[in-house]
Amino acid sequence: MWDNIGEKIKLLAKVIAWVGIISSVIGGISLISQGFDINQSSRSGRDGGLFILLGIASLIGGSIISWISSFFMYGFGELIEKTSAIEKNTRNVISANVVSNGEYGWVCKKCAHTNRNMALFCNSCGEKK
Ligand SMILES: [Zn+2]
Repeated sequence: MWDNIGEKIKLLAKVIAWVGIISSVIGGISLISQGFDINQSSRSGRDGGLFILLGIASLIGGSIISWISSFFMYGFGELIEKTSAIEKNTRNVISANVVSNGEYGWVCKKCAHTNRNMALFCNSCGEKK
């Protein structure tokens, strides 16, 4: 359930960005059409120009804000993904070293600490060999 959390954060960032953009567009369009309605029923004497202006601002501004704020969340997901990839690679490198230089001993399954061959338990976390 919590595997590939970086990927999930990235997906969530995309979903939130799209929801934000779509709601900005829908909100903007409804404000603009309200403005036109007010202008058409000129008898009311009100000016719909403000509604149209606000609608355009929501449409463009809201979309851009949703898009930009998703960068941070997406970047955070990317960071987690890259970090776990590095961690995985580092473990593989250590294991490869141990295999090629048998004298180094064995790598703990739990914490990846490299122990001496004669050690029966991990020197770092106490896990059994
Ligand atoms: Zn250990």
